[in-house]
Amino acid sequence: MNTRRDFLQLFAASAVTLPLTPLSTLAHEMSIIEEKYEGPVLQVAIMGLGNYGGTVAKAMQGCKKARLTGLISGTPAKLKEWQATYNISPKNCYNYENFDQIKNNPDIDAVYIITPNALHMEQAIRVAKAGKHVICEKPMALNAAEGQRMIEACSKAGVSLLVGYRMHFEPKTLEVIRMRKNGDFGKVLFFQGQSGFNIGDPKQWRLNKALSGGGSLMDIGIYSINGARYMVGEDPIWVTAQETKTQPERFGEGVDETIQFQLGFPSGAVASCLSTYAMNHLDRFYLNGEKGFAEMQPSTGYGPIKGRTHKGELTQPHQSHQMVQMEEMADIIINAQTPTVAVDGAEALKDLKIIDAIYEACRTGKKVTLQLG
Ligand code: NAD
Repeated sequence: MNTRRDFLQLFAASAVTLPLTPLSTLAHEMSIIEEKYEGPVLQVAIMGLGNYGGTVAKAMQGCKKARLTGLISGTPAKLKEWQATYNISPKNCYNYENFDQIKNNPDIDAVYIITPNALHMEQAIRVAKAGKHVICEKPMALNAAEGQRMIEACSKAGVSLLVGYRMHFEPKTLEVIRMRKNGDFGKVLFFQGQSGFNIGDPKQWRLNKALSGGGSLMDIGIYSINGARYMVGEDPIWVTAQETKTQPERFGEGVDETIQFQLGFPSGAVASCLSTYAMNHLDRFYLNGEKGFAEMQPSTGYGPIKGRTHKGELTQPHQSHQMVQMEEMADIIINAQTPTVAVDGAEALKDLKIIDAIYEACRTGKKVTLQLG
């Protein structure tokens, strides 16, 4: 599926299910594949053919430097359907029992793990042992101890470990980061992050502690945690947090519904954030400095991201986050490129340490000191 005609056919088909795909997005994605590219390509297998796996697979059809070449799933019917949709050879398809055999498959360079959070660590370690690069969805693991094991396994195997922080490649986000580095906001004083949505189906894995590792914080609050770090441009040194549960019948033991947390940074800047599974329309970042401000809403959804600063609207064009992420990750793995904001295991481990500390602060009511370095 690498010709322009194939891509247009896929988009014609997806227009039925995605009637709101902006024309500017299509035009941009078409322009990417129309540019001739003859360099190396990262061959990627997706593990976990669920909702987000589908989003990534579709977006990758617009990539030049990354190509979907393999599939890993426990459901034979899904494998068959995806094989046909994405023109994947049956010899590149695996299940959760036999995927260690990818080590003998030259058509697969990397595996993108897009399964429930609790499975990430073991799956990543198996992929690393098979000698393939690991791209893993957020949160990288259930806690910092697991994250550390993944980093060690990938390091030992000599493979990359990258985490799906798509916002680290998003143009409006990168512009705010550029302005902050340029001193346009002056000394940064305050960040506010609001991340939440009203979660549906009570039977889904996101509400099952054994599979999710927690609740809203693991899933959506992590955007405010990670965003606080890239917007302020520092790593926090302390955290305080408070949990509220208004619907205990929906959110069981260990599954957080709503958490407010505060972060303190070495410069004296502070952050105040909200993570919730019980309110809609919460996708907002606000950064305040001595000389100016940035606000983004939506700030981390699939976009288009909207935002403005004290200097005016942010006008950088929207691109499919997942397509750009995969192009950039191919460059990181194949061409040793360094992204503006890191997307590696060490970066993700910092978020896991903060998550551990937020849960501890909720439990104890105490201020927890952080050492992320
Ligand atoms: P999903 O439920 O739609 O898909 C999960 C897939 O894993 C399914 O195909 C399911 O069959 C498979 N699976 C394998 N073993 C399983 C098991 N034991 N129990 C349940 N499912 C099992 O979930 P999703 O929304 O695609 O989320 C998957 C991962 O992607 C999560 O880690 C999530 O945080 C992450 N995610 C990231 C983004 C992003 O924007 N970066 C967006 C959505 C999801």
